[in-house]
Amino acid sequence: MLKPIFMSIIMGACATSVAAGVTVKSPDGKLAVSTEVNDGHPCYTITFNGKEVIGKSPLGFRSNVADFSSMMSIADTLRGSIDKHYTQDKIKHSDIAYKANTLAVTLQNRQGNEMTVEWQVSDNNVALRYAIPRQGDTGAMIVHEEMTGYRLPENSTVFMTSQSDPMIGWKRTKPSYEEIYHIDAPLGTSSDYGHGFTFPALFHTPEGMWLLLTETDVDGYYCGSHISDFHDGIYSIAYPMEGENNGNGSAAPGISLPATTPWRTITVADNLAPIVETTIPWDLVEPRYETSREAAPGRGTWSWILWQDGSINFDDQKTYIDFAAEMGYENVLVDNWWDTYIGKDGIERLAQYAASKGVNLIIWYSSSGHWNDIEQGPVNKMDRPIVRKKEMKWLHDIGVKAIKVDFFGGDKQETMRLYEDILSDAADYCIDVVFHGCTLPRGWERMYPNFVGAEAVLASENLIFGQYHCDIEATSATLHPFIRNAAAIMEYGGSFLNRRLNRGNDGGTIRRTGDGFELATAILFQNPVQNFALAPNNLTDAPAEAIEFMKSVPTTWDETRYIDGYPGKYAVIARRHGDTWYIAGVNALEKPLTVTLPDFIKPDAKIYFDKSTKELATRKAGKNRKITIPTNCGFTAISRQ
Ligand code: CA
Repeated sequence: MLKPIFMSIIMGACATSVAAGVTVKSPDGKLAVSTEVNDGHPCYTITFNGKEVIGKSPLGFRSNVADFSSMMSIADTLRGSIDKHYTQDKIKHSDIAYKANTLAVTLQNRQGNEMTVEWQVSDNNVALRYAIPRQGDTGAMIVHEEMTGYRLPENSTVFMTSQSDPMIGWKRTKPSYEEIYHIDAPLGTSSDYGHGFTFPALFHTPEGMWLLLTETDVDGYYCGSHISDFHDGIYSIAYPMEGENNGNGSAAPGISLPATTPWRTITVADNLAPIVETTIPWDLVEPRYETSREAAPGRGTWSWILWQDGSINFDDQKTYIDFAAEMGYENVLVDNWWDTYIGKDGIERLAQYAASKGVNLIIWYSSSGHWNDIEQGPVNKMDRPIVRKKEMKWLHDIGVKAIKVDFFGGDKQETMRLYEDILSDAADYCIDVVFHGCTLPRGWERMYPNFVGAEAVLASENLIFGQYHCDIEATSATLHPFIRNAAAIMEYGGSFLNRRLNRGNDGGTIRRTGDGFELATAILFQNPVQNFALAPNNLTDAPAEAIEFMKSVPTTWDETRYIDGYPGKYAVIARRHGDTWYIAGVNALEKPLTVTLPDFIKPDAKIYFDKSTKELATRKAGKNRKITIPTNCGFTAISRQ
């Protein structure tokens, strides 16, 4: 027995191939996952069209009950398949078929501790989780560390954003998935804070393959995970930092056996279409409850984005209700400090006024809490069930149908439980929920029927806060359809038509983009509830055709297609609403870009496009299928079928 143990020390886990693994392939046969045990260490390999895209990488975890990553052997395997169909009106497709082949590999150690690696492999997607039965009399487990790793091909490049330090930033509210991206950076690029990177993460291999890593099916019974820094050629699953949530709650998840871990997914393709179009975060989950009222997608205005805290008063909110009504929008978002500057009586009167105009209010809350220093009210309403339910009853009684809850404490299981508690209570009072200052939603669009949005991105507010974000606005916009917004809905709160980002349109930061670019982002950035960064002055100072476009733009989609693009450079995406296609493109290159409209665009399609960052124009598509987009500019073609 000495020799194999010695070898495992010098080689490390999963370094060499010892035996052929047990393999499961996608229905189209292109994607294959092999599981094997290498000197007692469970490992896996992924190939696409016979080429390795994830080299031999570790599986397993260590818990307070046993080590499930070493001294293991395969005890059993079970094959199956899944063929299901579901509908959704909140994500990039409305009618979804999911076909996958499954393989469960049960592993056992010499003491009889057992766990099963569960695989689902669909065309272009691999999903992996662990199923853990009771361990004899032991029914409670702490998972200390996960070995699950990803060995990307050498010389791949990465598109990743760092996990921040805990308890930094505005009122010590981070991490909140609001960091800059490393774009097309070398494999192994160090994270900004030394804590690795957040999901989702995109990789491009030297052979032209694309891989998108994320996770789904995370609820109050596990933590949110992220990706470690690069060690020995591997990125590994990492759990939250002890310091998150001001140190409250454990970093290691605690589970009740039998249990399954969240699904970790890898979307694999030789082009970007399967990355943009994937539905894997929702294919793997089921709704956790039913609601008596359907979630209400819609458009809204919000004064806070341009008029800031000073606009949280009765008169300015009334102005924005009138503005929403003028635009034909469904919602007005009343942001932070309303408890101090408007009061509950004022909100009740505003709700009545809004109702008289056919507009709903979305009301802001802080999640806090004993995990940050937030003063903006209301505070301490959403973190405790008795007060929360009383608040929600009041909201329901005055006709409020949605809330925005901000400033969460990170990715610990305790925080995941708070997200779920808020969603569950809100569902009981027929209230939809948007999260800001939050984690990445992980399958929540389908798991929680009244979940309608999450920030988890450097969103529109940063364009107000700093010129740097305006200067890189186009570059950032070309990333999201391929990364953040490919994995989950994204409440960005954008589409500015002000040239200067302040209340008077005469000061503050300077927008670098064309109006056509801003219109295009209303299509590129997908969320069923969109609060647009328009202002009442735009009715008279913005191009009339831009306002016409923004009045008619939908927020729900039946289909999404990748047309063209490269993350960090340019993006052209098509989305279909009913019988109408919207093809939107933006260009962050330093030179004009010419793209070809797809065949399904009719000659009578209307195209809104930037002649320059200063001039919006429109034309019919006609016979000319080419469209040229200047730097920092964009276009949208609207084509009825
Ligand atoms: Ca934010």
